Amino acid sequence: MENIFGSNHFNTIAPWLRQKFGCRVIKLSLAGGFTCPNRDGTKGTGGCLFCAEDGSGHYAGTIPQQIQLLSGKWPEGKYIAYFQSFTSTYAPVETLRQRFDQALSWPGVIGLAVATRPDCLPPDILELLWEYNQRTFLWVELGLQTVHDATAQRMNRCYPTSDFAQAMEALTKRNIRAVVHLILGLPGETKEMMLQSVDYVAAFHPFGLKLHLLHVLKNTGLAALYPSGFHLFTQQEYIGFIVDILEQLPQDITIHRVTGDGPADQLIAPLWSLHKRDILNGIQKEFKRRASFQGMRWKQPQP
Ligand code: SF4
Repeated sequence: MENIFGSNHFNTIAPWLRQKFGCRVIKLSLAGGFTCPNRDGTKGTGGCLFCAEDGSGHYAGTIPQQIQLLSGKWPEGKYIAYFQSFTSTYAPVETLRQRFDQALSWPGVIGLAVATRPDCLPPDILELLWEYNQRTFLWVELGLQTVHDATAQRMNRCYPTSDFAQAMEALTKRNIRAVVHLILGLPGETKEMMLQSVDYVAAFHPFGLKLHLLHVLKNTGLAALYPSGFHLFTQQEYIGFIVDILEQLPQDITIHRVTGDGPADQLIAPLWSLHKRDILNGIQKEFKRRASFQGMRWKQPQP
């Protein structure tokens, strides 16, 4: 296998989008005004222990706010409207249609990214997503975090991993791209368990993967647990582990994130994660040191 990513060493989504659309493509992080079944009592209350009060949409805003913020930097760019916070399919079909249509009507918006939970994709919503998949560029993000149900229960995720498998099958059947979120460092998980989550997800061959470093944020269930102590990655340990993971992924899985993005005023630990540039440089340096790249150790699953 050869390194087809050059000095980048792995299949990051930004160049992939540039190649597809012929220009810089920027994601607009949007708060769609939804809630989450894990907060309103339908599945649970209080949310996942790692989730902040804003439903993991720290930087989300409205389309005009986001365009104003980003267009100065990339005036020639096009946009993907990213419904990020809470559960962006947790509303009636007509509400979703109105939100998605409104987003697509903005000049320069060339597609949608919709973040949701695997248990929030009933048939009518899947039908709607299928429609948008015909009309525009779309991917659906699924917050899995771990395949280990015992960890998921401790984190109050409030759905079994089997729901994820069903959601992946439903999306794949409709040719809808899926981007899967995993959190690295959940309390009680060993590296081996995290690699099991990565392998499980890779076997579905999703369009993309988001690897999040576990963050302890203020006013979360995790913050309450933190004083009792659980292991958090050190920077060096994390960088090495990310490279281990990417080496064993197929080359065509696009990588949307390799660290976390916790807001400085909410972050309790690990504080080294605030220096995102250092982490990204560290990952490239480690790839270089090993003379390796994404997919170098990937093994085709045996039939
Ligand atoms: S992480 Fe997602 S599923 Fe969990 S509480 Fe937050 S918005 Fe809901």
